[in-house]
Amino acid sequence: MYLDPWLLFILLCLFICISMLVVIKFYPKNAGRKKDDPEDLEKAEEADGFGNVKKDFVANVSHELRTPVAIIMGFAQMLHEDYDKLSGKQRREFIGKIKKNSERLRDLVEDLLDLSQLESSEPELRLTSEIVEDLVRRVANRFLDKLDSKTQDIRFKLTEEVTEIRLDVRQIESVLENLIDNAIRYATGFTVITIRSFLDENKDELLLEIEDDGCGIPENDLPRIFERFYRVDKGRSRESGGTGLGLSIVRNAISLHGGEVKVRSKVSKGTTFSLSLSREL
Ligand code: ADP
Repeated sequence: MYLDPWLLFILLCLFICISMLVVIKFYPKNAGRKKDDPEDLEKAEEADGFGNVKKDFVANVSHELRTPVAIIMGFAQMLHEDYDKLSGKQRREFIGKIKKNSERLRDLVEDLLDLSQLESSEPELRLTSEIVEDLVRRVANRFLDKLDSKTQDIRFKLTEEVTEIRLDVRQIESVLENLIDNAIRYATGFTVITIRSFLDENKDELLLEIEDDGCGIPENDLPRIFERFYRVDKGRSRESGGTGLGLSIVRNAISLHGGEVKVRSKVSKGTTFSLSLSREL
């Protein structure tokens, strides 16, 4: 497939503009803000007068954007200047790299936009009544279709009761997608992902668990994994298509629904994320 290098340059410029818009949108109001610790944030910002939290966030975003942009520019430039000298195989390889890094930029921009919405001062919740078990199966089935059935499986242990809950479908789908996607990306060898749901004692909350038997998370890292761009293994995360924002999105979306996210993990054994969703929203 031949892609005009100028078209690639234009696409690249478009990406940069969108990315910069996202950063500008974030910077003045919400950068570095966590929903559950506004006071800490204010104190942190007052402490140095300018806001190290914001500066760190902008620095992180710039750093995350810089690498794929540099790769896209490098390969687009080579295609542009040496097109006739390159073999068909080389051209395909370079275009493949441009495509992969454009996708990385797209994922990053999409995640930043989601996070920006979730953390805005007036986050939008479009509540509708949903049967959670149907929603869970629908999302998991999208992954099941793509899994290698010899080495990967998703099993359901869902409550017998039909639990209809008012929630924002798009947000909860994104929560489940992020957690299932992580369970697959941090798997080792044969992997089984188990999705459980059950009602708490008083039957006023639904608990959802996504359990994997993957690489696990070291104890020291557990308190930090919900921070933006925090990764235990940066190389593995990026190589497998991670943006470092998935768990921040999960935590923010669940907290907007009045719920909580918890994690248990053991290195080399696996990880379980559990979510609570109120039945009274
Ligand atoms: P990423 O895009 O890097 O996966 P996330 O915010 O989704 O970003 O997760 C943050 C970090 O937490 C990941 O980089 C990874 O180190 C760790 N992590 C998340 N989910 C899992 C899991 N199921 N198993 C092992 N590690 C995980």
